Amino acid sequence: MEKIKNYINGELVAPIAGNYIDNYNPSTGAIYSLIPDSDKDDVELATKAAKAAFPEWSKTPKETRARILQKLASLIEDNLDRLALAESKDNGKPLKLAKTVDIPRAAANFNFYATGILHYASQSHSMEGTAINYTLREPIGVCGCISPWNLPLYLFSWKIAPALAAGNTVVAKPSEVTPYTAYLLSELCIEAGLPKGVLNIVHGLGHKVGAAITEHVDIPVISFTGGTVTGKQIISTAGTMFKKLSLELGGKNPNIIFDDCDFDKALKTTVLSSFANQGQICLCGSRIFVQRGIYNKFRDAFVEKTKQLKVGNPLAEDSNLGAVVSKPHMEKVLSYIELAKEEGGTVLVGGHQVKLEGEFENGYYLAPTIIEGLSYNCRTNQEEIFGPVTTIMPFDTEEEVLMMANSTVYGLASTVWTQDITKAHNMAAKIHAGIVWINCWLLRDLRTPFGGVKSSGVGREGGFEALDFFTEPKNVCVKL
Ligand code: NAD
Repeated sequence: MEKIKNYINGELVAPIAGNYIDNYNPSTGAIYSLIPDSDKDDVELATKAAKAAFPEWSKTPKETRARILQKLASLIEDNLDRLALAESKDNGKPLKLAKTVDIPRAAANFNFYATGILHYASQSHSMEGTAINYTLREPIGVCGCISPWNLPLYLFSWKIAPALAAGNTVVAKPSEVTPYTAYLLSELCIEAGLPKGVLNIVHGLGHKVGAAITEHVDIPVISFTGGTVTGKQIISTAGTMFKKLSLELGGKNPNIIFDDCDFDKALKTTVLSSFANQGQICLCGSRIFVQRGIYNKFRDAFVEKTKQLKVGNPLAEDSNLGAVVSKPHMEKVLSYIELAKEEGGTVLVGGHQVKLEGEFENGYYLAPTIIEGLSYNCRTNQEEIFGPVTTIMPFDTEEEVLMMANSTVYGLASTVWTQDITKAHNMAAKIHAGIVWINCWLLRDLRTPFGGVKSSGVGREGGFEALDFFTEPKNVCVKL
C-alpha cells in the first residue's frame, strides 16, 4: 500500500519511528494509503530545517520568492485533474467541486500572495518637522500552519502562501483525515524549485504533531484553522508562550431570509449554502430564519429542491453530494439528528444514512436534512454539526431575528436576503459575524478580511491582513 511521506528539508522522507496510520477513502470506506504517524522528533527535524532556511529565504528578494510561488501555482494548475481526483478520493467531496473550487483556489492562493507581496508597503508617520516614524515589516521566522480536512489543499495553501511570500519559513501539518493533496503539493514544491527547508510538511495526529508544533520554542507564530475545542487547546499552550496566533474556528451561521427577498435566488443559494461539500464548509448556513409571510412557501420549496439532490459516487457528474469525510464524523452528524428529534424537531427531509450499492456500499453517505420545529436556543441550534443538516425557523421582526441569529457562541458568517438596502445595511451592522453576505453566499474576494468573532476565532486572514500577521512591525523614529 502506498505510503505518504513527510517533506522535510526539501526531501520526501519516512517518519523517524516508522509508524503509520490508515488513510480511508470515505466514498468506499476502504483503506487506500498510509499516513506517517509522525511525532515530536519529526517536528524537531522539520523545525531545524525551517530555522536553517530562514536567514536566506527572508533575505531572498521578494520578486524571486514571488516567481517560485507563481511557478508552484502553475504546477497546481497543470496538475488540476490529478489533484482534484486525489482530493475527492481523500475527502469524499464531489470531483466536480474539487475541480472547480478546491484546486483552482489553491493555485489562486499562491498566485494572490506571490503578487500581493510585491504590492505590500509599510506606513510612515510624520511629526511635523520634529521626527519621522516609519514601520519596518519584517518576516518573523518559522511559522506553524495547521489546517483541517474540509477544504484540504485550499485551506492549507491559504496559510502557507502568505507565510512564505512574506519571507518566513514554515512547518505545516495538514489534517490526518485528508493528507493526500498536501503530499502531492510537496512533490510540486520540489519541482518548483522551492529551496530546501523553506516549507516542511509533517503528517500525523493532532495531539502529537499539531501539539509539538504548537509548543515548539522555535516556532513563534501559529496559524490554525479547525474546531473551537482544538483552538482552545492551542491558545492555552501558545498563548502562555506569547506566540503570535491566528485562529479560524467553528461556526453556526444564520441565513436570514426576509419576505421581500428575491425568492428564487434566495432559494437556490440556500440549497447550496446548506449542502455544498456535504455541509462541511465553515461558511455553510446551518440555521435558516425565514420571515413569517413567506415561511410556508419557502419551506415547502426548499424541501422540494432538497429532495431532488442526488447523493452518490463523488466521481459521477450528476452527484450533488458525495460522502462525508469519515465514519466517526458521519456518526457524529447522525447523533445530532437524533438529538434534534429528542428536542422536538421534525425531520422534513433526509435524516438518515444513504446506502449506495457495489463498491460504495460501505461509504459514508448522508441524506441532506432539514429540521423544523426547534427553538432557537436548543442544542441543535447552538452547537456546530458540520454536516448536511440545517434547521428552519420562522421569525416576525428584525429585532427578533437578530436576537436569535446572535444567540450562539459563534460569529463566523451570515447571509441576509432582502431587496430593501436600508434593512440590509442595518442587519449587516448588527449581526455578530466576521462576514456578512447580502443576497449572495461564498462570493470571495481574496483581498477582504476573512475570519470570525466570539468563539469563531481570533484575527483575520485574507489580503494584507495575512501579510500583517506573518510579519513583525517595528517602528523606527528618526529625529529631524
Ligand atoms: P480539528 O480541530 O479537529 O483539526 C484541525 C487540525 O488541528 C488538524 O490538522 C488536527 O490534526 C489538528 N489538531 C488536532 N488536535 C490538535 C492539538 N491538540 N494541537 C494542535 N493541532 C491539533 O478540526 P477538523 O475536524 O479538522 O475541522 C473541522 C472544524 O474546522 C470545524 O469546526 C470547522 O468549522 C472548522 N473550520 C473553520 C474554518 C474557518 O475559516 N473559520 C474553515 C474550515 C474549517
